[in-house]
Amino acid sequence: MSGVELVMLACCDLGGVVRGRSLPADELPGQMEAGVGWVPANHALTPLGGLAEPNPFGSTGDLRLRPDADTHTRIDGEEPVPAFELVLCDIAGTDGAPWECCPRTFLRGALAELESELGATLRASFEHEFQLMGTLAPALPFSLEAQRVAEPFASRVMAALADVGVQPERFMPEFGEHQYEIPVMPADGIAAADRSVIFKEVVREIARRCAMRASFAPLAKPDGPGNGAHVHFSLVDSAGASMLYDPAAESGLSALALRFAAGILAHADALSALTAPSPTSAARLTPHHWSAGAVALAPRNREALLRIPPLLTLGRLDAARQARLEYRAADAAANPYLVLGAIVRAGLDGVRRELPAPPLLDRDPSQLEGADAERFRVGGLPRSLDDALGALEGDKTARAWFSPLLYDAYVSLKRAEIEATAGEDLAQRCARYARVY
Ligand code: GLU
Ligand code: MG
Repeated sequence: MSGVELVMLACCDLGGVVRGRSLPADELPGQMEAGVGWVPANHALTPLGGLAEPNPFGSTGDLRLRPDADTHTRIDGEEPVPAFELVLCDIAGTDGAPWECCPRTFLRGALAELESELGATLRASFEHEFQLMGTLAPALPFSLEAQRVAEPFASRVMAALADVGVQPERFMPEFGEHQYEIPVMPADGIAAADRSVIFKEVVREIARRCAMRASFAPLAKPDGPGNGAHVHFSLVDSAGASMLYDPAAESGLSALALRFAAGILAHADALSALTAPSPTSAARLTPHHWSAGAVALAPRNREALLRIPPLLTLGRLDAARQARLEYRAADAAANPYLVLGAIVRAGLDGVRRELPAPPLLDRDPSQLEGADAERFRVGGLPRSLDDALGALEGDKTARAWFSPLLYDAYVSLKRAEIEATAGEDLAQRCARYARVY
């Protein structure tokens, strides 16, 4: 193949966009320590293009993108497309000290608290849904036809994901038009968020090679399906056992799990500003989208913000290893490091305050009325990004998870997106964000 093979040293920015600088791949070994240059104001670039104004960075300052060798990802090229190569980076000062606005550093801080306070490691996976935009023939939800019309993408993407170590589990035609989902195995700590970033970029790359585009947009059309990024997570102890599991409890959840869940529910509104953060995201979270129609904890219920997935005993599966919670109000507009860091901090707050176990929702929330509907907060998440940012601002505990600079940068970015889409109706916003994510 002619040309120079390029490797991008990249970070996932506050708007969930992967950005960076590329160098010839044969220079990578020599740059692993020093990385490449980066600019603070890059963290004020909005997903719609252009800089958020005002932003706290201005024109000054210098940073480095410092690669983490564990994230090195490469897919062979095939004429005429050269190899796809990427390494995820920490954002650091020119002396190598962590930068306070680096999303990986944010998550590391939360993971350190989890370890020191509970002796726990976070084990998590993101369950991304996406739609293939191109000239696909129509096919019915979950049908074999829907899988076959997506070939050769389907088999090629599974091979590429396995090759780069993302550990894909299944290829699923989903409910919506040209919508698919590929669950992946969980990973520990920061690798879980790295895996979400790498997953999306590999899916996009293989779609491009198949002359299609993969869109992870939260809602590509107002009346279409949502593309969720549900977060499955557990806490494991040093022996690798799930700390969320209690076989004696009716829910299967330990006292620790219930407090952790209560913390997430208590901060749910503020969390949504981080986990579902585009001007189209809130519309996906309304009832009947199978996303998060009730701000509640519920066994096997796909309308609950926190779902307790079933524990299978078939095929000699080990229930303890499966015990986990599923946070359903996340989408691909979010930065996965901020998502996991915020979930951990919200859960830890519930543990510290010894919050009472949340009531378990046992039915479709659309059957609830009056006081019950209020108790389980049916349709309770903020109705817009503006409301979600208001909830974040009003939640002192959640605000303290951020350094003032990171908080300012995040809010100014999100405010710029609100402003840029202010004159548009939901359909126009959806179309615009479908092109971004
Ligand atoms: N598409 C739904 C969402 O936006 C999820 C459907 C499901 O897989 O349960 O979250
Ligand atoms: Mg799904």
